[in-house]
Amino acid sequence: MQELVIASNNAGKILEIRQLVHGISLLSLADIGFSEEIPEPYHTFEENALAKASIIHKFSGKNVFADDSGLCVNALHGAPGVDSAHYSGERDDEQNLQKVLTELTDASDRSAFYKAVICLVWQGEVYYFEGICEGVIAGEKRGDGGFGYDPIFIPDGYDQTFGELPLSLKNEISHRGKAVKKMVAFLAGAMNNVQSDNRSSLFGI
Ligand code: IMP
Repeated sequence: MQELVIASNNAGKILEIRQLVHGISLLSLADIGFSEEIPEPYHTFEENALAKASIIHKFSGKNVFADDSGLCVNALHGAPGVDSAHYSGERDDEQNLQKVLTELTDASDRSAFYKAVICLVWQGEVYYFEGICEGVIAGEKRGDGGFGYDPIFIPDGYDQTFGELPLSLKNEISHRGKAVKKMVAFLAGAMNNVQSDNRSSLFGI
């Protein structure tokens, strides 16, 4: 079976991605013996995703993908954006979401969106897949599902936060779900070209 490394240490992301990718052997950073923090020094999701995927590709020589993602709040001019993981100054989900709630105390516009950019290094070539999920920031924290800002993010078309909605639903409509599904479709095509006789067993699509 083909191997693909997930260049992330974020347990929440990895859980979501594992539910969406089948028919390929997904390796964690622990599986390839990489134990360092991966830097995210840039100001765009695309650059950070490429940086993360490149480091792990150079380290392992394997096919790899990285997701760089974040919450963009319109009244905050797109913040926390690429700084989502450490917006409060700490890598602490609770402190980060409380900072957003505090900053929106008097805001009339609570619209926001999640964005995910996946950078895939496949057979030495680089590919990008993007997903966006629009919504609003709740008045207070609700639910304890998901991770990060999920307890304060209400996706458009729903009344509950991603902290309250089931993960299966989040994966159907989320930024990451959309980006991963695009990557899966690409991989199915790429692998089918090589292994046309195995076509029906790949990814179940
Ligand atoms: P990074 O991509 O590792 O830089 O970090 C992404 C950060 O964005 C996470 O640590 C969360 O704070 C936030 N984030 C990205 N996607 C989600 C999501 O699906 N739910 C909640 N928070 C998210």
